Amino acid sequence: MVQVNENYLKLKAGYLFPEISKRVSNFIKANSSSEVIKLGIGDVTEPLPQACVNAMSKALNEMGTNKGFKGYGPEQGYGWLREKIAENDFMSRGCQITPEEIFVSDGSKCDSSNILDILGDNNLIAVTDPVYPVYVDSNVMTGRTGETIQNGTYQGLLYLAINEDNNFLPEIPKSKVDIVYLCFPNNPTGATITKEELKKWVDYANKNKSLILFDAAYEAFIQDKDIPHSIYEIEGAKNCAIEFRSFSKNAGFTGVRCAYTVIPKNLSGHNSKGDKVDLWPLWNRRQCTKFNGVSYIVQRGAEAVYSSQGKKEVNSLIDFYMKNSKIMQNKLRTSGFTVYGGDNAPYVWIKVPVNMTSWDFFDYLLEKANVVGTPGSGFGLAGEGYFRLSAFNSRLNVNNAMERIINI
Ligand SMILES: *Cc1c(COP(=O)(O)O)cnc(C)c1O
Repeated sequence: MVQVNENYLKLKAGYLFPEISKRVSNFIKANSSSEVIKLGIGDVTEPLPQACVNAMSKALNEMGTNKGFKGYGPEQGYGWLREKIAENDFMSRGCQITPEEIFVSDGSKCDSSNILDILGDNNLIAVTDPVYPVYVDSNVMTGRTGETIQNGTYQGLLYLAINEDNNFLPEIPKSKVDIVYLCFPNNPTGATITKEELKKWVDYANKNKSLILFDAAYEAFIQDKDIPHSIYEIEGAKNCAIEFRSFSKNAGFTGVRCAYTVIPKNLSGHNSKGDKVDLWPLWNRRQCTKFNGVSYIVQRGAEAVYSSQGKKEVNSLIDFYMKNSKIMQNKLRTSGFTVYGGDNAPYVWIKVPVNMTSWDFFDYLLEKANVVGTPGSGFGLAGEGYFRLSAFNSRLNVNNAMERIINI
């Protein structure tokens, strides 16, 4: 008799985005005349940078020749891409990250869940609340939590609330945690962390021999000069942090698929006897066994992000979305909303009217303005009372959506 992984049965039934789709399609069925504008799911909308398109099409043609054909590439990614990444994303910011410490992959979503493969089952794990649901659900699936309790949180995880009282910065736990997930600039709140605040986390982790899993998927959207783009800008981070980066949001690779994870060579965990064990060889082994690398074509596309044309085009994509974000902030404030985020991230995080829950506001906005957003409570208990609007859309849709909201 086949046994299933019962941890999957602990997952909360109504996952956020399917529930949103259901409500939207019910609404559209009942109101066929109204056109709905979706500012919900965090997916990019603008076409790929031409530099990437050209590089991928050249690579594709190469593959069709005897001379240019390539089979399996290195599991860790091609050296030429890892070198460009090290140089442009780290060395240029004074972070001593070597190409060897960079593992190219097909996404940060999978990397941030797969990383659990090399980490023990009995770590005490902390996540922020609200949170990118992938961190929580992958811990549930691998049996690292208990059941959900009535309020929807899982036993065994430590939730660090981020809300307006703490300026959307998680408080450092009084007790010791082994692993903490931090995502800055933050999805869903759009909040950022300063070097001083991040330094406190790095010091905490080094003192307690904990590991920080740092998700920097939105670093390209940072506008303020003082906000760190990488955790390795903080002294001591190479001893306590893994960083996830992705080409999804900066270069619009959500449908192309390329990302990378940094595992510093001197980063270690411990075995059950308390001896130090390096993490780099474990992740390398994991990738070599379970992963066969990212397509050559796609890696050439990612490499082009670092060309001078690529950099220019990525900058104008970021400017475009951040202009959307500014428009949204201004219009929403004008119509009386309290607005957070949106300054260094493509998400604005608004407070819903006092007499409504996040889901009430979702229905209200859908009905009155035909605009779709994401209820904050879908990202965690402490997201209740908030609502996420994404700046990933055409200018026309953003303008129209804001006009509709103002005119409710
Ligand atoms: C979009 C996003 C990513 C990127 O995921 P990919 O799998 O690389 O597309 C990672 N983390 C967060 C929080 C995100 O929102």
